[in-house]
Amino acid sequence: MMELSLQQVADFCGGGLLQGEGSSLCRKVSTDSRKTGPGDLFVALAGERFDAHDFLSQVAASGVAAMLVSRVPDDLGEGDWKGGLIKVADTLVGLQSLAKAYRRLLDPLVIGVTGSNGKTSTKDLLSTLLGCKYRTAATLGNLNNHIGVPLTLLAMEPGTEAVVVEMGMNHFGEIEVLANIAAPDVAVITNIGIAHIEYMGSREGIAKEKGMLVEAISPGGMVILNANDDMTPSLRARSKAQVLTAGVGTGDVKATLLGTDAKGARFLLDFAGQETVEVALPVVGAHMVGNAALAAACAWHQGVSPTQIAEALGSVKLSKGRLQVKVVEGITFLDDSYNANPDSMRAGLKTLAEFSSSGRRVAVLGRMGELGVHAESAHIEIGEFAAGSGIDLLCTVGGDEAESMGLAAGKVRGDLAREHFASHGECAAYLRGWLKSDDVVLLKGSRAAGMEQVLSIFETS
Ligand code: ATP
Ligand code: MG
Repeated sequence: MMELSLQQVADFCGGGLLQGEGSSLCRKVSTDSRKTGPGDLFVALAGERFDAHDFLSQVAASGVAAMLVSRVPDDLGEGDWKGGLIKVADTLVGLQSLAKAYRRLLDPLVIGVTGSNGKTSTKDLLSTLLGCKYRTAATLGNLNNHIGVPLTLLAMEPGTEAVVVEMGMNHFGEIEVLANIAAPDVAVITNIGIAHIEYMGSREGIAKEKGMLVEAISPGGMVILNANDDMTPSLRARSKAQVLTAGVGTGDVKATLLGTDAKGARFLLDFAGQETVEVALPVVGAHMVGNAALAAACAWHQGVSPTQIAEALGSVKLSKGRLQVKVVEGITFLDDSYNANPDSMRAGLKTLAEFSSSGRRVAVLGRMGELGVHAESAHIEIGEFAAGSGIDLLCTVGGDEAESMGLAAGKVRGDLAREHFASHGECAAYLRGWLKSDDVVLLKGSRAAGMEQVLSIFETS
């Protein structure tokens, strides 16, 4: 963050400076009481389990420059702390207002990325591409909510020219709040699937909410949409700004797959018939090609050349946990255990099917969460999809929902080898006896299913 004076902070968040010099400076915003230091502005947020106001004496002892609070603590510890104290009615609103003002002060190009799947991957790809031309900041990891978006903006260093902001949502109204804070110039919608449908009711509901980001873009801005998504025409109709589409086999920016293997995906990228480049993306997964096309379309529109785009995509690195390839004793593990919903499950199973290998293919699947009333049918559908995807063994791990995928697969393909395990350890032990060199294994389930444990136990057993 650029240095802000305490008076600026107080003005930006509509608070009162109760203690400290208005001209004193703070350099960084922190919200974790265990990770504060000299020069920080500590924002005391109240979470579900803890209220940071209870830890202020510890924060004071770390030498922060100031604290943003909604109640003044009786005791700030033993030391004679004379730092800044800014009071607001609600510290979350204060943090959001501060971020909103800071974004306008720095005034970089702001790109909001939302969608059901692939937000983080697309954000990582896009920030790499924009980095060819601009001093680019981006959401760290997956900090994409009402706290993460303000923190992303406040982390921008002075001189930042572009920022890629991931925006997540699982309830109505959330995107509007985030768009209001970030005031994006460009929107990228990766796709409309059924992630988080538990709270959103239907796919149309999800489209309605994600479309709030499209509506937030002013006529001078730009909207990038997925040419492969059937919701794209309705999103386009809601845009006041120019629309560019990108996709696999179709779109203004069009990717044509050439092949995928352990090294990644090779494809051609055509930029509106004006120029075509060949890309070797060092990331596995056909769906990543679609994400790359979206990122490329956005970067191209911002003046990054197709040649620069192809080069930068060739050496891109993604955040941890998304379809990592790990070879153990000649067996290839496609670790996509970061999370799962029906769309990303299908994408993972397709990647397994398309993966070039002479060995057998194994899907090791855990439960998908946040599906609400759709949970039962979604697990059955994924089981049926898995059965039709050419695998040699289907392992499910966990409770009834996980098991129901195997049962559904068995109904479609009676001869498919299937096993269900209550624990990761039992599954790893079974795979120890079953797997041979050249086999390929997909590990996938919701975050809570912790499917990466199958691999870690396998490796150490
Ligand atoms: P979250 O909602 O957790 O923030 P996200 O939208 O940021 O997720 P990623 O973290 O990029 O998405 O990827 C999450 C999962 O979705 C991974 O398993 C990844 O392989 C899969 N995935 C990524 N892109 C797509 C896509 N375009 N279509 C389907 N699945 C995808
Ligand atoms: Mg994400």
